[in-house]
Amino acid sequence: MEIIHVSAECYPMAKVGGLGDVVGALPKYQKKLGHTTKVVMPMHHTQYLETHHWEVVCKSSFPFGDTYLDYTIIKEINPSQTFDLYCIDIFNLLDRPNVYGYKDDTERFLAFQLAFVHWIRQIDMLPDIVHVHDHHAGLIPFFMQHFLEYKRLQSIQTVLTIHNAEYQGCMNVNMVKYFFSWDTWKMGLLEWDFQINSLACAIKCVNKVTTVSNSYLQELFYNANGLEKLFQQEKNKCSGIINGIDYDTWNPQTDRFIKQFYHSRNFKKGKAINKDSICKQFSLDSTLPLFIFIGRLVKEKAADLLHILIPLAFETYGYCLNFLVLGNGDIEIENNLKNILPNHFGYYHSSIEYNEALSHQLYAGADFLFMPSRVEPCGLNQMYALRYGTIPIVRSIGGLKDTVIDFVEPNGFGICFNDANLKDMIDSIGRSLELYKNINTVNQIRKNMMTINYSWQKSAKEYIDLYDSIL
Ligand code: ADP
Repeated sequence: MEIIHVSAECYPMAKVGGLGDVVGALPKYQKKLGHTTKVVMPMHHTQYLETHHWEVVCKSSFPFGDTYLDYTIIKEINPSQTFDLYCIDIFNLLDRPNVYGYKDDTERFLAFQLAFVHWIRQIDMLPDIVHVHDHHAGLIPFFMQHFLEYKRLQSIQTVLTIHNAEYQGCMNVNMVKYFFSWDTWKMGLLEWDFQINSLACAIKCVNKVTTVSNSYLQELFYNANGLEKLFQQEKNKCSGIINGIDYDTWNPQTDRFIKQFYHSRNFKKGKAINKDSICKQFSLDSTLPLFIFIGRLVKEKAADLLHILIPLAFETYGYCLNFLVLGNGDIEIENNLKNILPNHFGYYHSSIEYNEALSHQLYAGADFLFMPSRVEPCGLNQMYALRYGTIPIVRSIGGLKDTVIDFVEPNGFGICFNDANLKDMIDSIGRSLELYKNINTVNQIRKNMMTINYSWQKSAKEYIDLYDSIL
């Protein structure tokens, strides 16, 4: 079958978080299963765009209020991924360095979605499935069904994957002024709480909704940033499919970013060399256990507590651990994490940036990965940590609950706690330090963890089964 994925992000062209990782990997694994897969995304002006080759496949324009927007579709020539990658450029709107964070993001993603339907309406062979990811592509299923001149698209089945329901793409109802002629009787499909809500609209319009873990889906029925009732109403079309990880990109045996390659039989030496290198770079003591946090510095990830937690850990347990933070996001959280540096230099460091290479080096060099998230739809970091023999310390929520088993349980390997509060977090660090005293147990856990299979193979097949069920 032919599947088109539509997303704001796709690694390595542009990635902000897990959405990019998923859309960069799932189509590749679906292709390995014998299907034709394409990804369509906005043409962000990234380094990848500059350093790869592209051909123009379509140039056209569409009405946008009282004006017309010109758009260009480019396709990567010889993509390094095994699927076809298409980018939509709209002059002055999409050709920008960052994926999100502009004042006119609402107009930008609306125009992206309009250009997408305008373009696919013209192509000869329609796909079997249009699979939209998160709210940035959430209006597309509505456009495909209710734009009056787009009836040709009505036969295509649609799937929505929700990577994060906190962000919903809400906009004023007067934004319908930008729509092509549509069936206004269908206004109710667009609205939620008197606004256009792109995510809610997608949930109502698609054939199937998936969330990136089953536990997250269960949580959304009672905690979905205002959409709880909608999830309850539509529960029969919802299911959870856990994300996998891309074993080509995340492989300590071949990872081009890390200092020393290793695998599950020689990880002691491999991890030690990687740890030494990281500790040197950040003036940390490599004889102590190294805890890391990697992620967006936002409340969802409980990153707002890190600047209190880290000093508290030193106060409670003494300077018998190192803590390293890699992340960016909320300015206040960034500043708080910078401000605690002088008092704990030598044991704590932070790198306030987005740095793909450094993230790989940290997964490889660290002893423990700390993920205290308040909300975690799936979480990929903990799965990367497993692959690199780094013990995950997680709050049991969403996908973390589905992927990490506490080491005291049968087949366990991680450290789990229940609540995103300082007490539970400090206790979990205490448990980790106790565990670290018994290095033989730690090494046995690492060895077991590194052989757990969280590849995309199984989940990619689950998506194919889901498409089959609606075709
Ligand atoms: P989310 O999508 O909510 O941000 P996930 O755990 O699903 O969280 O995915 C996060 C992805 O983004 C992982 O690949 C992680 O390594 C990466 N990441 C997050 N912050 C950074 C950063 N500052 N530098 C490099 N990689 C990062």
